[in-house]
Amino acid sequence: MDLDHFATARPYAPEPRFLWPGGKRCAVMLCFDVDGETTALSDDLALEVRLTTMSQCAYGPRVGVPRLLGLLEHLAVPATFFIPSWIVERHPRMTAAVREAGHEIGAHGHLHEKLATLSPEEEAAVLDRSIDILTRHLGHAPAGYRAPWFEINPGTADLLVSRGFVYNASMMSDDVPFIHPNGLVEIPGQWMLEDWEQFAFNADPAWGAVPEDCDKVFRLWWREFEAMRLFGCCFVLTLHPWLSGRPSRVQLLERLLSGILATGDAWIATGSEIARWVTENPAARREIDFDALPA
Ligand SMILES: [Zn+2]
Repeated sequence: MDLDHFATARPYAPEPRFLWPGGKRCAVMLCFDVDGETTALSDDLALEVRLTTMSQCAYGPRVGVPRLLGLLEHLAVPATFFIPSWIVERHPRMTAAVREAGHEIGAHGHLHEKLATLSPEEEAAVLDRSIDILTRHLGHAPAGYRAPWFEINPGTADLLVSRGFVYNASMMSDDVPFIHPNGLVEIPGQWMLEDWEQFAFNADPAWGAVPEDCDKVFRLWWREFEAMRLFGCCFVLTLHPWLSGRPSRVQLLERLLSGILATGDAWIATGSEIARWVTENPAARREIDFDALPA
């Protein structure tokens, strides 16, 4: 059935939520969370000897990332890679390839620790360890942070500012960036624009569900992109190379990015570029005015 059959004669097109550079209608932040082996190890360290489970995770940094880097170069699209520092040390050539291709690398824990399981002191120690390792491999400190499982603690935003981070990309309370009271830029995401829910599967331990058809996932993500473009939002897509580095999913991403590029009015940017635009253009964000809503 063609869903466009139900298109309305007078489409709802409110004012854009945000003003983007160069008159673009929306922003696109392409994120690769290179969790690799830490996907399993942060679940249970005993999985270290489960070689097939570990190898499925290692497919991301070993095969997925190089293939995805090739696609990004082919399309001349910048991306942001959030990499646990354990993975940075385990796969130094992969990390160097991402850096040398000009993409941004942000912090994502050391062993992909769930922040909710850590005390404030433990959370600070993990963050400091990850900053040290990333700084050694990048030549500079990371500017951006994505919490493992997207989940932050009450003290995380202040901790990030105290360590010099410019932005966080972990919350879900909006579909355009905002600035925390302490000055930290937030670039929110959402579970619909994540590949785990679509593609993750492992038999034992049981992860995910039945891997989805790429055509269905393309429609899900393309529909959300089209609507976010109409509403002036920031389309934050989060992909894991051990899932989205598989061949048909790389082609799904190629199709999606080609469609986005063809619109000509989407600003595809790294997290740092988006954060800079947000801090330098405070009037770009249109606050929601409840008083202006119909009574
Ligand atoms: Zn992750």
